[in-house]
Amino acid sequence: MTRRMSPTRRARIFEAHNGICHICGQQIDGTKERWDADHVIALEISGDDTDANLAPAHEKCHRAKTSTEDVPRIAKAKRVQRKHQGAHRPRQKIPYRRFDGTPVYPK
Ligand SMILES: [Zn+2]
Repeated sequence: MTRRMSPTRRARIFEAHNGICHICGQQIDGTKERWDADHVIALEISGDDTDANLAPAHEKCHRAKTSTEDVPRIAKAKRVQRKHQGAHRPRQKIPYRRFDGTPVYPK
C-alpha cells in the first residue's frame, strides 16, 4: 500500500520501533534501505490507521507480505481476465468411485 505520510510521522513510527522491521525483525538502516510504514494488522481488517497499528518494514519485506495477502485477489483477477479472453478450461473428466471403491472413468 502506498500512502502519503508526513516525514515526521514516518520518523515517529520508526523511532517508536527502534527501526526494527516488524516483518523480519531486523534493524532497518534508514539511510540506506527503503522502508514503509506498514499496517501491522491490515487496514482492511482492523480499520486502524493510527500510529499504534503502524510499524516500519523493509520495502522488500512489505512487498512480499502484501503479495502473499493479495494472492487470492490476484488469482480471482486472473480468472476474470481469462474469462474475458474467452479461454476457459475444458471440463475435466474426474473419475468417481463406486461404493466398493473401484474407480469409474467417465467416457
Ligand atoms: Zn524486513
